[in-house]
Formats: sequence, C-alpha cells, structure tokens
Amino acid sequence: MNPSRPPVVAGNWKMNKTNPEAVALARELVAELGAALPCEVVLCPPFTALTDVSLLLGGTPLRLGAQNLHTEEKGAFTGEVSGAMLRSTGCTHVIVGHSERRRLFGEPDELVAAKTRAALAAGLVPIVCVGETLEEREKNETASVVERQLAAAVLPLPPDAISHLLLAYEPVWAIGTGRTATPAQAQEVHSLLRARLGERFGESGRRVRILYGGSCTAENAGDLLAQDDVDGALVGGASLVASGFAQIARAAAGIRAR
Ligand code: PEP
Repeated sequence: MNPSRPPVVAGNWKMNKTNPEAVALARELVAELGAALPCEVVLCPPFTALTDVSLLLGGTPLRLGAQNLHTEEKGAFTGEVSGAMLRSTGCTHVIVGHSERRRLFGEPDELVAAKTRAALAAGLVPIVCVGETLEEREKNETASVVERQLAAAVLPLPPDAISHLLLAYEPVWAIGTGRTATPAQAQEVHSLLRARLGERFGESGRRVRILYGGSCTAENAGDLLAQDDVDGALVGGASLVASGFAQIARAAAGIRAR
C-alpha cells in the first residue's frame, strides 16, 4: 500500500439481498463504519436496491456503486440500465468487466471497453476488472491475459480519464472459491499492471488504485493489502456480512481489526 494512493474497499453484493435485506446490511455498515470511515468504501448492491440503499447512505461518507451498465444512454434496450440512470440513483461507481459478466454473459473485451467509456461519460468511476482463469494461469498466460484485458479497456482511454478509474485484479480461480491468491501472486500481477499503466499514462497511470479481488476475507485481507501495489479490495462473499467487511476496510487503512 502506498500513501499517495488512498485505499479503497468495494463490496460486490452480486445477486443477493432483497430490498429490506439490503437496507438492513447497509444500515449495519453505516453503524460499523459511518462515523470514522477508515478508507474509501463503496457498496455495490443489486440494481433493485440502489435507490433504497442510496437514501440510507445519504449524509454518510460511504459511496454507492452498481454492478453493471449498458453502453447506450437510453433507448430500446429492454432490461438494461444506463449510466445516467445509475447516476440518478446516487451511484458514483460501477463495476465493469467482472469475470461473471465476461464468462456467464459472454461479455468480450470490446464490450468491457465500451462499458468503461460509457461509465466515464456518465460521470461514474468504473471499477474495471481483469483476471485470468486457472487454466490460463497453469499455462503461464496470466501476464498476457491481464495485459490484453488492460489494453482493450483502459490503455486506449484519453489521459485525463485515467485518474477517474479504479482497476481490480481478480483471478477467476479465486472468485467465490475460497482459494485466495497469495500476497506474492497478487503483488506480481498488480506491479505488472502498474508498470503498463505507467508506460502509457506516466505518473497518473502509476497512481491508479489497483484493488485485489478473489476470496478476500477479514482473515487474509491484512497480508494482501500490505503489498506495495495492492491499494484495496473488491470483495464479494465477505461483503455480505457487515462486521467482516468492516474489518477488511480497517485492514485496508492499516488499522488493526478490533
Ligand atoms: C467478486 O465477485 O468480485 C469477488 C471478489 O468475489 P469473492 O470475494 O466472493 O471471491
């Protein structure tokens, strides 16, 4: 972790929580974290709960994010949600290119790139996810896969966009599996991504905050977040329990868990 890159922890609630459940979780998180936020915290509930959670977060430092967006601003795209719509619920962030979107919904690199541009155009901070599958790692393709994903979605952006973006390294084999990357594995990929960002964008590229995601828990967060190039965490399963997620946020800020 580097002091010039303030840590950020985002919770991806995925397709979990009805509205009353989402409000209850957000309320618990505000109680845990709201008064003395240890670091930037973004909650990403499902679309249906955005407005209710937004109302609850009003006046607190916790930020709201969505899990997906469409590339167009409006129109005949049944079932889709635009960046402007997300903004109007109070969202400041949106996850783009999550491996579940890539894998289960067939989103290719080009679409992830278009969604990244759409998010930025709507004034949202995209949390752009990259990561290799187990098969790719075993074939020693980790570097080429994450570089390809970065080259598609991030490197073509104009230089002034880069400070409005977060990157997340999420090895697919670590997501929801309980099998976390070792701190050394995470650091190796984060430093590679940072080097590529620096080559393209200079100092502002090197300042991009890169989050680690993949079975991050209150137990392992401290070691992962202690790595030089790990600037925070994108948390799935463990973000559904307020006390554990709050502990990860404290670990990100270097504050020992209570
Ligand atoms: C995620 O979905 O972004 C994620 C990291 O999930 P989990 O923490 O459950 O592995």
